[in-house]
Amino acid sequence: MKADPFAQLKLLDVQELDSGHDALRHQARNPPEGPELAALKAQRDELDGRAQDLRLAVDDLTREQRKADADVEQVKARRVRDQQRLDGGTITNPKDLEHLQHELLALDKRVSDLEDVELEVMERLEQAQADLDAARAELERVEQRAAELDAARAERLTDLRAQAAKLKEKRAQVVADLPADLLALYDKLREQKDGVGAALLRQRRCSGCSLQLDNRDLGQIKALPSNEVVRCEECGRILVRTGESGL
Ligand SMILES: [Zn+2]
Repeated sequence: MKADPFAQLKLLDVQELDSGHDALRHQARNPPEGPELAALKAQRDELDGRAQDLRLAVDDLTREQRKADADVEQVKARRVRDQQRLDGGTITNPKDLEHLQHELLALDKRVSDLEDVELEVMERLEQAQADLDAARAELERVEQRAAELDAARAERLTDLRAQAAKLKEKRAQVVADLPADLLALYDKLREQKDGVGAALLRQRRCSGCSLQLDNRDLGQIKALPSNEVVRCEECGRILVRTGESGL
């Protein structure tokens, strides 16, 4: 293929713009916030699950506490009734009196036992509530951090898109006066060869694949007219010759 040397040189500008565009796309796909956001999401799921479990535990313990309260109150009420009967002086039969006194003692013991249960439930409820509050606070912290990172990522994406649009515009200007066949070859090579279609021959080396050309190859290239489009023997990319080529 033949192409004006100036057009070949311009291909390096196109390559630089295209590589810049690729780098922007890579940055957009691999935001620095990515790993932390993934970790935060896992943390959020874990905390969500924990908060739900604790919420159920708090509900259960709240019911348990209400029941324990009611149990205590019920026995206390019965004790008050018995005490009133005793104080009322209406019971005179010694056996009945003795029976009532025994019952009062038994009720005292029962109230004390139930109050222990009530206290224990209350402590467990307080602990569960404290754990739930802590999990919710942690969840809020995690969500806030994730929102910050999301915002930062969105801002960076907007910026990257703006940069990419500028590069695209510049590319359109540069390729406007390039021969269509040269550009088509470049585009095809770029697609096949990791995004690099045109490489500078710099100090006897292909900057696309780093192959160093021997004297024979260099001699052959040197002998070619400047409008001949040279390809690297190793990688097949378009080799652009300049004053730095070492020819
Ligand atoms: Zn090469």
